[in-house]
This record gives sequence, structure tokens and C-alpha cells, in this order.
Amino acid sequence: MANDRVLRVAIVGSGPSGFYAAEALFKADARTRVDMFERLPTPYGLVRGGVAPDHPKIKSVTRVFDRIAAHENFAFLGNVTVGRDISVEELIRHYDAIIFACGAEADRRLGIPGEDLPGSHTATEFVAWYNGHPDYRNRMFDLSAETAIVVGQGNVAMDVCRILAKTPDELRHTDMAAHAFEFLAESRVREIILVGRRGPVQAKFTTPEIREMGALADCAPMVDPAELALDEMSRAELEDPSNKHSPKNMAVLDEFAARALGGSSRCFRIRFLLSPTELKGGERVESVLFERNRLEGQPFALSSRGMGVFEEIPCGLFFRSVGYRGVPIPGVPFDERRGVFPNRNGRILGNGGPVPRLYATGWIKRGPSGIIGTNKPDSVETVEALRADMAETPPCEAPDTSLVHELLASRGVRVVSFADWQKIATAEIARGAKAEKPLEKFVSVEEMLSVLDT
Ligand code: NAP
Repeated sequence: MANDRVLRVAIVGSGPSGFYAAEALFKADARTRVDMFERLPTPYGLVRGGVAPDHPKIKSVTRVFDRIAAHENFAFLGNVTVGRDISVEELIRHYDAIIFACGAEADRRLGIPGEDLPGSHTATEFVAWYNGHPDYRNRMFDLSAETAIVVGQGNVAMDVCRILAKTPDELRHTDMAAHAFEFLAESRVREIILVGRRGPVQAKFTTPEIREMGALADCAPMVDPAELALDEMSRAELEDPSNKHSPKNMAVLDEFAARALGGSSRCFRIRFLLSPTELKGGERVESVLFERNRLEGQPFALSSRGMGVFEEIPCGLFFRSVGYRGVPIPGVPFDERRGVFPNRNGRILGNGGPVPRLYATGWIKRGPSGIIGTNKPDSVETVEALRADMAETPPCEAPDTSLVHELLASRGVRVVSFADWQKIATAEIARGAKAEKPLEKFVSVEEMLSVLDT
């Protein structure tokens, strides 16, 4: 930067990409002022609301985020919705730059008849429900059905399948929200079918996740060996030395296919090369019509093409898990097709090129892909672009966080600080101890705020 001024940056969203952006800003200049806005009173985004309750190790990354939050120039402004409680224009008045790290809150649709029938859900709402996200606590899932179908073969689909496949004892001591645990404990789902539109070589799930499906207490994995037969292009993909992912997945699938059927009361069945074309049913979903696919194109760019051959699979519960999608914020350009904020290297683009002061990182920047760690280099790239631009950008009009607090107070917004959040977290841990759980989440904003009044 040409001048030596201290930057004031607002980060919108408190998931991994937001915290890694804060870290990159502090590493570049420890004097930077970072105010992180979050619409919930609780931080960590998908680490709290997305990562599966039975994968606690992944959640330990919050310790890294807590260290970042402890920086003397960091402030958390929780329970503040940007675009409603404070506008983007107002943020621009008070901050030199705004980094949107607001993730992808919605989900992609299949665009097929029957998609909105009762009994048809998105993986995102199921995940948010069992993780106690306040917006989803009242969702209802009819778990009296014998068969559940999950379409899409990424790790989110795998989480949904595994949670449906686990016994109450396997979930009891996790941080799953109590309402979801009680409901799942009564589940009558006995067959979980994971369906992919492409073949086993193209499946996106990672090897530890698929392997875990073969090590559950009371659920047998099932794959028809005929479904693992590969076309020429898939074989080329599999045998390419650069492909580190699919051979390991194939080894697990081969092992599943060779397994003798045991006496488990639940089964996890994997199907390939099938695309849903219609959800059928009267009052609620009763079956799914699939079209059989073949693959077309070149290795690593194979796409599915319907063959005009159909198969109907009965089910009482259906989840689509075909990717998340960002949602717009008033005052920020939005790419409707991709569901992201259009950007180049993190610089948000309007019709006339980069929009001054606006940046993006994480899923709202690149789309819903990658693991938590992927967000670190992504946020570094955005922060580098931001800092390079600041030499040419005049200081903001009113560089004062107290004015932001005044504005929010005048609108009746109760801002939750990081210390407030830590009080909520302590109360959650105490609630969890009674049930021998790491914590018992509060699942409504009112409950969370009431902790602060005690
Ligand atoms: P994903 O990995 O992109 O998987 C999406 C799946 O949906 C793919 O199998 C895709 O098939 C399929 N799909 C897309 N459109 C479809 C359509 N119209 N019809 C049928 N299938 C369709 O996304 P995700 O599972 O939502 O996960 C998002 C990111 O979070 C991923 O990077 C994932 O690894 C990560 N994550 C990681 C963990 C973990 O580390 N344990 C847990 C959860 C999530 P195609 O391949 O044919 O497009």
C-alpha cells in the first residue's frame, strides 16, 4: 500500500472463510480493525450448522477461530443481519472495505415434477435441522417411511445417509440437537439408497466418508457388482496416475460389493448412472422415477446422458443433495445462474468492473466446493486484492465502530459480542454435561439471548 493508514474492514459472515480473511488481514497488518458481522448470535457458520455431529474432530478448528477472535482489533457483531439491520451502503460509510464471507445458504433444485411434494426435502434443511440451526428447528421429516432416497453423491449426501443409518447409541453422545436425536431415535427408515447420476469413478464423496459406511453398528453397505462395471472412459479416468481419489473409493466399493449380507437391520445401498426425472405420489412422495444414464465426453469431463430407459424406486422420504447456492444481499451484484457474487480474485464485479470496497471469499466467491481448509488460501487471495486496491481508495467517510453500534441500537438490534457468545457457549456446554454430550445447543435466538440476561 502506498500510504500507511490503518484499514477498517467489515467481514460479513463468521464461517471459516470469514475467520481466515480476518487472519490474513491481521497477518498483513496487525493494526487492521476487523468487525465481523453475523446474523446469528453464534459464530462459525457451517462448522456449527453443517459439519456432522458425529464428526467432532472437524469442529476443533473453532479453536483456531477463537484465537483469531482474541486479537485486540477484532470485534464480533452477532445477531446483526446485513441488508436488513444495516445496509451495505451504511457499511461502506463506516469501513474502507467489506468482505462478504456469507457462504451459500440455499440449495440447488433438480427442476423436476413432484420436487415439492411432502416427503421431499433438501439435504441442507435436514443437516441444519439436526445441527440445531434456529431457522430449521421446526422442520418436520417423516421418518416412518421404510425407504429413504438421497440424490447426489457428495459428502453432504454421505452425511445425510450416515445420520439416517446410525443407531441411537451411535448418536446419543454427539452434539446433535436434542429435538433431532429424539426424532431420529424413533426412525423407522431401514433402507437408505444413495443415487448418483454418473458412475462410481466420478462420485464426489471422499474415501474416509464412504469407508465409514462400512463400519456402522447396524447397517450393511450394499453395492451390486454389476453397477461397478466401468465404461472405457471411466476406466481411463480411474487409471490416470493423477487420479488419487477414485481408486481409493473404488477399492472400498469393491469391498462392499464382495461382502456377504450380514444380519443388520438397516442397509445402505449405492446406485449409479441414474437421474431422477419425477417424484411421484398423491398426498406425499411414494416413489421416484429415474432414467438410466450413460457417460459422454472425455476423461475427467464426463457428463451423464439419459438413455430413455426408466426405473421406478418406491420410497417415503427423498432428499436432494445436489449442492448449495448463495443468496443475494441488497446492494451487492449477484450471479443468478451460479448463485455467487460475481468476482475476479475476490473483487466483486458490477456491470462496469470491480465495485469499489466490495470483496468476496469462500462459497459466495467460488461456489460451494472444497473443505474447510480450502477457504484459507481463498481468503488470502481476497485480502491481497483488497490491500492492493486500498492504495487507490480514499478512507471511508465515518471510520468509527461506535457509530455502527449507535445505528444498530437506534433500530432495536441487540448486538451479541464475542464475550456474549462465549457466555452462550458455556451455557450450552453445561446443558450438554447433564446428557453426557459435548454440548446441548440452544436452537432459538430467543433462548440464546435470554442466557445473556441471566
Ligand atoms: P458436491 O461435492 O459438489 O456434490 C454434489 C453432488 O450432486 C454430486 O454428486 C453431483 O453430481 C450431484 N448433482 C449435481 N446436480 C445434480 C443433478 N441435477 N442431478 C443429480 N445429481 C446432481 O457438493 P456437496 O455434497 O453439497 O458438498 C459441498 C462441499 O462441502 C464439497 O466440497 C464437500 O466435499 C464438502 N463437504 C465436506 C465434508 C467432509 O469433509 N466430511 C462434509 C460435507 C461437505 P456430479 O458429480 O455429476 O456433478
